[in-house]
Amino acid sequence: RDPSVKKPEWLRQRAPQGEKFARLQDSLSRLKLNTVCVEAQCPNIGECWNGGGGAGGEGDGIATATIMLLGDTCTRGCRFCAVKTSRNPAPPDTMEPENTAAAIASWGVDYVVLTSVDRDDLPDGGSGHFAQTVKALKTLKPKILVECLTSDFQGDLAAVYKLVHSGLDVFAHNIETVKRLQRIVRDPRAGYEQSLSVLKYAKHCKEGMVTKSSIMLGLGESDDEVKETMADLRAIGVDILTLGQYLQPTPLHLTVKEYVTPEKFSFWRDYGESIGFSYVASGPLVRSSYRAGELFVKNYLS
Ligand code: SF4
Ligand code: SF4
Repeated sequence: RDPSVKKPEWLRQRAPQGEKFARLQDSLSRLKLNTVCVEAQCPNIGECWNGGGGAGGEGDGIATATIMLLGDTCTRGCRFCAVKTSRNPAPPDTMEPENTAAAIASWGVDYVVLTSVDRDDLPDGGSGHFAQTVKALKTLKPKILVECLTSDFQGDLAAVYKLVHSGLDVFAHNIETVKRLQRIVRDPRAGYEQSLSVLKYAKHCKEGMVTKSSIMLGLGESDDEVKETMADLRAIGVDILTLGQYLQPTPLHLTVKEYVTPEKFSFWRDYGESIGFSYVASGPLVRSSYRAGELFVKNYLS
């Protein structure tokens, strides 16, 4: 962290509690399912697993959890991300789609976000593996809602097509930051135009596809640059946006340039909704999958 920028009180983490949370946590250990929620010690776990209801309280909404596919080692090295990297990660576990789908189906969560490290070593970037998992899950539990938060597949649109047509409900890919900061923040194999092209194609290759993206704030971007990014995402039909504070995972990662206030995050939520996003989740601790199920159901299904 830049020593001149002090971490504010509003980023304090809350201990999760609630009945649904306790139930999910209980069954989780039996199923040997690795969630990003637990592994990354996500501060939103109480809200997501309880299906909303405020700071760790009991909600009556849809419980959301995020599961990581394709291992824990990424072929890229973004400067904001603490995931392990290697040029040659272990090959994917061919049983993972079936086994993970079975574990999720019996776990009790209503909305699942499937995500992964980037696998530039695989011919389809892992798209087939994702698609198999979605298909297996929808077969076992047709009512579960599935969001896939994917890589850019190096711009491979056939890989995007395969995943979009797997039966998923939401296609998410994060643009992460404004245009000017892409090269500083993301691995050089990622890029602003490439991310836009993936999101644009996902929206247009299947009628009614819902698309989603996310921007981190606090990396030195200006308000005009955030507005430009939001306008570019809207122009290609992105439906849902999330905005959260960048937090430096280790001293080797990019420093935080600014802690954006909760009021400013509210401003961005209102601004985003005014330019046509169906909804915007925006707050210091918001992550891409924050209360994703609850908000999706509220805005699309009720
Ligand atoms: Fe899990 Fe995502 Fe919610 Fe965090 S924001 S608790 S990772 S679903
Ligand atoms: Fe982390 Fe994703 Fe970048 Fe890999 S591609 S280093 S998982 S942010």
